[in-house]
Amino acid sequence: MRSTPVLSTIWLALALAACQNPDVSTREAPKPKPKPTTPAPVVIEAPPEPTPEELLRAKIDRFVAVELTADVSALAEPERKALDKLIEAARLMDPIFDRQAWAGNPALRATLEKDTSPLGQLKLDYFTIMRGPWDRQDHFAPFATDKPHPAGAGFYPEDLAADAFKQWVADHPKDKAAFEGLLTVIGRAGASLEARRYSTEYSEWLEPAARALEEAAGLTKNKSLKKFLTSRAKAFRSDDYYQSDKDWMDVDSVVEVTIGPYETYEDELLGLKASYEAFVTVSDPKASEALAKYKKYLPEMEQHLPIPDEVKTKRGAASPIRVVDLVFTAGDARKSVQTIAFNLPNDEKVRAEKGAKKVLLRNLIEAKFNTIMRPIGEQVLGPDQAVSLSSEAFFLQVLFHELSHSLGPAFTTKDGKKVDVRVALEASYSPLEEAKADVMGVFNVLFMIEKGELPAAIKEKVLLSYFAGLFRSIRFGTAEAHGRGAAVQLNRFIQAGAAVPESSTGKFRVDLAKLEAEISTLVRDICLIQHAGDKAAADKLLDEHGKVSAILEFALSKLGEVPVDIRPLYPLAGEVLPK
Ligand code: ZN
Repeated sequence: MRSTPVLSTIWLALALAACQNPDVSTREAPKPKPKPTTPAPVVIEAPPEPTPEELLRAKIDRFVAVELTADVSALAEPERKALDKLIEAARLMDPIFDRQAWAGNPALRATLEKDTSPLGQLKLDYFTIMRGPWDRQDHFAPFATDKPHPAGAGFYPEDLAADAFKQWVADHPKDKAAFEGLLTVIGRAGASLEARRYSTEYSEWLEPAARALEEAAGLTKNKSLKKFLTSRAKAFRSDDYYQSDKDWMDVDSVVEVTIGPYETYEDELLGLKASYEAFVTVSDPKASEALAKYKKYLPEMEQHLPIPDEVKTKRGAASPIRVVDLVFTAGDARKSVQTIAFNLPNDEKVRAEKGAKKVLLRNLIEAKFNTIMRPIGEQVLGPDQAVSLSSEAFFLQVLFHELSHSLGPAFTTKDGKKVDVRVALEASYSPLEEAKADVMGVFNVLFMIEKGELPAAIKEKVLLSYFAGLFRSIRFGTAEAHGRGAAVQLNRFIQAGAAVPESSTGKFRVDLAKLEAEISTLVRDICLIQHAGDKAAADKLLDEHGKVSAILEFALSKLGEVPVDIRPLYPLAGEVLPK
């Protein structure tokens, strides 16, 4: 807000309202017109309220279009052709995900496409970014519908409450496995509920996707890729992903694809149902090899966690790290905020046998550091601390976030049975797990410095880039797992005095020693909750800290024009920036 010499209460209320909305915080308020006679009451004009078009345009502008591609000139012809087939298969994840996000999406898109008014076109544009009519950056606030966002997305009847689901399962024990399964949609059949398998529900798209994968398998000369594509095509028809998840772990190819139902973030009702997505990538074997040294440390990292020995676990040792460039994404991987790295598969059985593969999306990480991360860091830190912002530290944080998903408690006990922590913590699982991966990630980077695998000189860069990076994540919105996880960390650090806010600038002074201490404490707290499968404690931590406090709100309002994320365009799939 600019200088405002005289403020009426209404004007003040308007000014404050504008300040709380980062999209409009930089709008210039018109100064009150001076009146010729001094004692007369001052008439003050309110600033013009932004139009719905302006508000929506500002939201869209927070996503900067960036082209992402890879050099494929060295690829042999069969691999190049296989790559095109993989993009074709990946595209088919879009119509599935649109329906998983909300059953009404296809019909609403058709309606929006017919509306040629400027506001109508902006709605369609934002709908495409958000993959639906609700703003994922703002607690699913509706912008192209009157309906509230259904917590169960498109996986359950919209009017089905979590308690009603649980009651049904309690009353129908033989339905339990199918209802709680990762790969079923819950629907109504008269007065009853029924579980429908993904392979049936989405066969219209899964069948041609399976065929495209099989065609790619016929083209590629890479045996490991051929094996995976063949078994994944089978999984699309059978809903049995176990073998193909294992085959995916073994893929060692320049052209790669990650395709299938993976993450459960979209299911905010119960956190049970997986969304379809695809990442088509071209890998960099040399860069991958350079990072391989860290994976042998995973067992040692687990033993080094600041938790009692009985809480420590043993998981699969094989944990390949791949550095790749993205050439196409679809489905759940292409909504709102773009994933910069992932750690899959999620099936704990496969992870126990074969570990999990960490895939770092290098071209995307670089694009985000340059367009978002550095400008944010320069705003939230003072100049003497902002000089420590480092793209190398950012890359390490991303890598160790992913490595840390493989560490800490995976199973807990519920009603006397061994279950995934995911099942015990329900919808609180994802935000807590993302907070864990962040904070345990930086904890482990510090451990690697201690071990001499990274130079001591990078420590300050690591801590400050990690801290600044949390502001990047919290802007994803606390309705989203990573954003909520970032809020937990920031609020804990502020509470511990590790980050001291400056009152007027929205900047923070980071106390490096206190930050390091609180990192350790938070790793311990989260691991203990996961180990106990204590849903009440998880809910309490998220309720208390997983929100945008007034201090954070103010700091975020200062980030003004910095984009929230990028909007990827993939030239190899025929998408280019308008000239
Ligand atoms: Zn994560």
